[in-house]
Amino acid sequence: MGGAVRILVLLSVIASFAIFIPPHGVWTIGALTGGLILARRRWLERFTLHSVSGSCPKCKIMLSVKSGPLRDPHPIACDGCHHTGSLELPHLGLSETNSE
Ligand SMILES: [Zn+2]
Repeated sequence: MGGAVRILVLLSVIASFAIFIPPHGVWTIGALTGGLILARRRWLERFTLHSVSGSCPKCKIMLSVKSGPLRDPHPIACDGCHHTGSLELPHLGLSETNSE
């Protein structure tokens, strides 16, 4: 009888480890992943796109671009023909971290 209780206690200890370790692992992975995503987002948002003036290469209407975080290349959707182009950035100061 005493042995069964001891095994139950041992099993519950193992079970509590089994229950508590994976969430900590998940939190660690989640924190790392969140940190990476935030770092990546922060890197991507170093530059803000305020405005773009230009016309659609297909239907020639003026493109209207909402301001927001600048991407490289920055996708631009045409309101006229729904052609999605991209704004390519000739390395205008985007290479500040690649100064070697
Ligand atoms: Zn167009």
